[in-house]
Amino acid sequence: TRREDESGTPSANKKDMADYLVKFEKQFTLTPQRMRMIVDSFIEVLERGLEKKGEEVPMLPTYVFGWPTGQEKGSYLAVDLGGTNLRVCHVELEGDGRFEVTQTKFRLTEEQKHADAQGLFDFCAECLDNFVKDNFGDDDGKVELDEPLPMGFTFSYPCEQDRIDHGVLIRWTKGFGAPGAEGEDCAAMFKKSLQKYNTPVEMVALINDTTGTLIASSYVDQATKAGIIFGTGCNAAYMEKVANIPKIKHLNLPEDAEMAINCEWGAFDSTTHEHLPRTSYDIHIDETSNKPGEQAFEKMIAGLYLGEIFRLIMCELIDEGVLFLGQETYKVEKPFVFDTAFLSLIESDPTDELLTVTGLFAHFFSLDTTIAERQFMRRLAILIGTRAARLSACGIAAIVSKQALLDDITDVKKQTVGIATDGSLYNKYPKFPQRLEEGLVDIFGEKGRAIKTYHAEDGSGVGAAVIAAMTKARKAAGYA
Ligand code: BGC
Ligand code: MG
Repeated sequence: TRREDESGTPSANKKDMADYLVKFEKQFTLTPQRMRMIVDSFIEVLERGLEKKGEEVPMLPTYVFGWPTGQEKGSYLAVDLGGTNLRVCHVELEGDGRFEVTQTKFRLTEEQKHADAQGLFDFCAECLDNFVKDNFGDDDGKVELDEPLPMGFTFSYPCEQDRIDHGVLIRWTKGFGAPGAEGEDCAAMFKKSLQKYNTPVEMVALINDTTGTLIASSYVDQATKAGIIFGTGCNAAYMEKVANIPKIKHLNLPEDAEMAINCEWGAFDSTTHEHLPRTSYDIHIDETSNKPGEQAFEKMIAGLYLGEIFRLIMCELIDEGVLFLGQETYKVEKPFVFDTAFLSLIESDPTDELLTVTGLFAHFFSLDTTIAERQFMRRLAILIGTRAARLSACGIAAIVSKQALLDDITDVKKQTVGIATDGSLYNKYPKFPQRLEEGLVDIFGEKGRAIKTYHAEDGSGVGAAVIAAMTKARKAAGYA
């Protein structure tokens, strides 16, 4: 093991690290001016997506019409196929903004993400079927119901919808690649699986997690203007006036109607790469991913990628003889072994000696670290985490500006533009929320303080249930 004391750190090594830090600071820092430029191009791209089908940022109509009343009521099932887990929930909406959730969670394996897609939906159906038997069946698991249970399917991937219980998968994201789903109606595929199990369930709606977050939050808090996920993936939804969505003119909806839009903003700048300050590490992640040339914005922000950006930089510095001199480094040289949760740990180490960092490297990678290395890595984690938050602020700012939500703000202490947010990065990465809000002030000045992000209600469970309830009510009122 190496010595920890000052003299034990070779001075050349120390100086190198300082030089590298200067280089990384340049690459990863976003000035307010640069952020405003990104926001301007972001707004244009969002608008383009509303005009025509098939644009880079697809701005997908969700067929979720307007806000919930908060009085939605009843018993609903929700299936949530996210980036990491499959969840099955039973949601009881009380009709007064309160609700109760019972759920089971299954971790998805890498094999499931890449094996035949119908098999993946079969697995979802099997889990749901077991859940229904456990929760609604008699002792033998027999389920007798007057009517099938209404279910909302949260399928958090870009889907082109013609109606709410339909969704053609545009592309897998978040490392999924199950063949047989892209270009297909995944709602229909899931229904087919449900038939195999004869589960007494009716799929009422296919929704995105961001739309669910938007609606679940609005169910309890009317200040909500957007729903955003900062998790394994990253995306946003907001409510748009139908009059501002030229590409759905043919539906002849009332001019004053509103529809939630699933932006799929993770795709921003994927085609021309003219707006985002991508580094060689971002490019490497993209090119070696199962979906090169896609989700450029998401790949700089989302939880799936931040740890990997950090790891790539470490590997470069190992190659250049700057980090972990004379040690076996193979454990850290494996792609994706460096979880984004490690970055949060590194950032939140409370000790002067950074002993959490010492432990992390010793335990997971069998590496000894010097204090200089640990301080360097802390700075690096801050750079990567801060860039992610500030880029995210650009996306939020684009939605806020496009909707002119700050125009009516006169008192930032009393008025709020609510941004409902969920996902591991937002909930667990220290300082992420604070950095987001600082970024918004850098973009908008003091007025930006009116924009408040907060942890949302469970969009993929409760949101799916509320949307299923809204859809049933809409149908009962005679709408298609
Ligand atoms: C997907 C979105 C989803 C987001 C957060 C992205 O990769 O494309 O549909 O909302 O991840 O889960
Ligand atoms: Mg989720």
